[in-house]
Amino acid sequence: MSYSLNDKLSRLKAYDPIEGNYDVRLDANESFVPIGEVLMGRINDEIAKLALNRYPDPFADGAVTSFSQFYKVEKKYVTAGNGSDELISIITSCFLKSGDNIVAMTQDFSMYVFYGSLYELNTYIFEKEKDFTVNPEKLVSFCKKNRAKMLIFSNPCNPTSLGLKKEEVKYIVDSLDCLIVLDEAYMDFWDQSFLDEIANYDNLIILKTCSKAVGLAGIRFGFAVAGETITNALKAAKSPYNTDAVSQKIVEIVLSYETKIHNNINLILENRRALEISMQAINDKYKCFDKIFDSKTNFLYIKTKLYDFIYQSLLTESIAIRKFDGYIRISTGSITENSKLITALDMIL
Ligand SMILES: *Cc1c(COP(=O)(O)O)cnc(C)c1O
Repeated sequence: MSYSLNDKLSRLKAYDPIEGNYDVRLDANESFVPIGEVLMGRINDEIAKLALNRYPDPFADGAVTSFSQFYKVEKKYVTAGNGSDELISIITSCFLKSGDNIVAMTQDFSMYVFYGSLYELNTYIFEKEKDFTVNPEKLVSFCKKNRAKMLIFSNPCNPTSLGLKKEEVKYIVDSLDCLIVLDEAYMDFWDQSFLDEIANYDNLIILKTCSKAVGLAGIRFGFAVAGETITNALKAAKSPYNTDAVSQKIVEIVLSYETKIHNNINLILENRRALEISMQAINDKYKCFDKIFDSKTNFLYIKTKLYDFIYQSLLTESIAIRKFDGYIRISTGSITENSKLITALDMIL
């Protein structure tokens, strides 16, 4: 036997979410709000009518229509994807050539660097300030200096929970002519979206996902919003049946319940604020955190030397969070889940 994997593949490890059954999952930034019986009934009825022996609509028209109504963007700017993850993969593989330079940041979503490496791009990493804010002027000159063909970042950022204001994003986009991929996965939790500017740029792609605020992480669905030239290219480059009929129907229905989604977002934000206050109280009592970052998202990012201890101890209490080197990230849960977390932390510390 002599087959050997190439270097880029042999370096890879399969994505490793936390395994096992934990009572409280606060590790993946999902929505804690279940679909609910009424909506689930409606979904079941509609799915029962689908012709599953037929291929799905390649352009997911129903889902795209609901998306464009919910986010008030024209349909001609919208491409549906099998999670925004698939869209990131298509963009990095098709809009660039191997050996091209791209810019990502640290800290930021790990998939950008992952796909950059998979598609043999030179990824230059822009270092944020010590407090994880981004200086737009420095970022722009970093991109120019490294002759970036693409800049990709999340806003607000996973994992730092911080965000760039719309004027700052505008400055960055106005200053660069390379492709700019702006991942607004968490922008439903903040009010600085750049979506309404999409018609003004021919080098911008904004990514949205149904996995967070919309509460559909269990199906895979995301959207790319871009000018017509890029949108046509994306539609031509994606695999023809990238999203399935069942997921398309679910997204079409769920995104049409606009008030319900907005109420869910408000509930999620309320709980995150309450969680922030409880975590500050924990810190007042135990002096265990160096910093709780000012979140613009549905999760908290916390600097702490105890990151490993807290992470491991919570797991033994059947509570899952994420740890990074020197930090923990905690998605907000329901009131009950959050209070289980706080009780457990109080006991552990
Ligand atoms: C969760 C997340 C996504 C969503 O990815 P999907 O593939 O749509 O589930 C995208 N970008 C960031 C920064 C995220 O944190």
